[in-house]
Amino acid sequence: MNADRKSYFLIVDLEATCSNDGKIPSHEMEIIEIGAVMLNRETWEIDAEFQQFIHPVRHPQLTAFCTELTSIQQEDVDQAPQFAEAISRFKEWIYSFPSHIFCSWGNYDKKQFIQDCEFHHVPYPFTSEHINIKNEFSEYLGVSKGFGMAKALQHLEMELIGTHHRGIDDARNIAAIYRHIKTRKPSHEKRG
Ligand code: AMP
Ligand code: MG
Repeated sequence: MNADRKSYFLIVDLEATCSNDGKIPSHEMEIIEIGAVMLNRETWEIDAEFQQFIHPVRHPQLTAFCTELTSIQQEDVDQAPQFAEAISRFKEWIYSFPSHIFCSWGNYDKKQFIQDCEFHHVPYPFTSEHINIKNEFSEYLGVSKGFGMAKALQHLEMELIGTHHRGIDDARNIAAIYRHIKTRKPSHEKRG
């Protein structure tokens, strides 16, 4: 394999504290779940998965809205390690793979990582490279419009597996979309 070709797409999906009444502004949101899969770019199989709940410190009490949205329970985060410990576990898992590139749906996850790393004085765990799969999906369709993950699955007539807005399930579904768009031609090209 070409030495500078990254052997894995590290697909990450984060869940974070949130509210629907402005009580948790976006600059105070904190990661409560890291879901991640190592998608092998040779075989397009998921070779490994990582899931970690995180104990938030700025708004430690989850809102009813957040629990409803994510299905993450208060006890899941009460029992979880804080961000620094969670990142140390995450890095240990990441670095057991030869090379990888950080990928996510949109830019939110990257921004949230940068925010939490700054707040907790923890080094950012990735290189500056990042693949925005949401953008790649729009390019695949040949449109400028952005799609949510659930809408993208619908568009491809693929089933959303697991629970939407759970980090690990979202990461698996994003991997399924990425595999699809990188290994198949869009339907408008097939017809043409
Ligand atoms: P997602 O990956 O789409 O599950 O979203 C990641 C995080 O963004 C969630 O854990 C929430 O913190 C926040 N979020 C997603 N959708 C909403 C929404 N409709 N209202 C408020 N926050 C949201
Ligand atoms: Mg999610």
